[in-house]
Amino acid sequence: MTDSLPPLREVIRAYDLRAKKNFGQNFLLDLNLTSKIARVPGDISDSVVYEVGPGPGGLTRGLLMSGAGRVVAVEMDSRCLPALADISAAYEGRLTVHNADALDVDELALLAPKEGEKVRIASNLPYNVGTMLLIKWLTAEQWLPWYASLTLMFQREVAERIVAKPGSKTYGRLSVLAQWRGKVRIALNVPAAAFTPPPKVASAVIHFEPTEPIDPTVKLADLEFVVERAFNQRRKMLRASLKGLPVDALALLEMAEIDPTLRAEDVSVADFVRLARCYGDMKNRA
Ligand code: SAM
Repeated sequence: MTDSLPPLREVIRAYDLRAKKNFGQNFLLDLNLTSKIARVPGDISDSVVYEVGPGPGGLTRGLLMSGAGRVVAVEMDSRCLPALADISAAYEGRLTVHNADALDVDELALLAPKEGEKVRIASNLPYNVGTMLLIKWLTAEQWLPWYASLTLMFQREVAERIVAKPGSKTYGRLSVLAQWRGKVRIALNVPAAAFTPPPKVASAVIHFEPTEPIDPTVKLADLEFVVERAFNQRRKMLRASLKGLPVDALALLEMAEIDPTLRAEDVSVADFVRLARCYGDMKNRA
C-alpha cells in the first residue's frame, strides 16, 4: 500500500528524525505492515482513532490509508511535527496532532468524538509507556469505557502475558485484568527486524475489545486487591497467599467455592471475579 507522500526513509532523512533512545523510538517504515496493523480493528471509517506516539507517521499513514474517519495523535517529540504536518495536509485535515505527553492528556477532551463516531485506540508505543497506558485504559471506572477497541504493539513477552490462560507460567495480573474487561488476542507477530533501529526482542500487536462486565457488582479495587495478593506469592496455595487479607481467607475461599489448595496461576478469571465479589461482601459485613 502506498500514498502520495514520500517513503518514510526519505521523510526521516529530510527532517533528520534519527531515532532517540530517551523517547523509546523504534520506527516502522513499511507501509504494508502499518496498513496491516491499521486493519486489525476492521472497518474504521466510522471512527476517530487515537494514536499515541506517531513518530514520523508510519502507522498514522497506515490508519489514514485504511480509511480511518479521522486520526488524533499525541507525540512528545517535537522534531516529528513537520513530518506529521505534511501528512495532515496530504489527508486534508483528517489528522490532528498534539505535541504532548500521552500520560498527561485528557483523551476525551482532545478527541471530542462526534455523535455516532466510535473511538478506537491504535499505537506503537515505547513499552513502558504502553503498559502504563494499557492499565489506565483497562481500569477506567466507567465500564463499558469510552473506547471501542485497543490495538497496541508490545514486546512479545508482554503480549503473551496479556492473553495468557490459567495454567500457564505467564498468566498473571495483566491477564486477569485484560480478560476480565474484554476479549483480547494477539493479532500479529512482528519481528525485531521490522523496526528501525531493531529492538532487542520481538514484538506483537494485541487487539482488545471491551465487553459487558461478568458481574457488574464487583468493584475494580476489590478485584485488583485480591488478584495482587494472590499473584504476589504465585507459587503458594491461595489459603496461604490470601492470609494477609483483612477477612478470613479460608471462609472467603469457601464462600467463593474455590479450592483453597489452588495456586493463583490456576484460578480462572471468572473465579477471581467471584472471589472479588465475595471479598467485597465480607468486608462490608465486617
Ligand atoms: N508510531 C511510530 C512508528 O510506529 O513508527 C513510532 C513508534 S516509537 C516506538 C514510539 C513513539 O512514541 C515515538 O515517536 C516517541 O517519540 C513517542 N513517545 C514516547 N513517549 C511518549 C509519550 N509519553 N507521549 C507521547 N508520545 C510518546
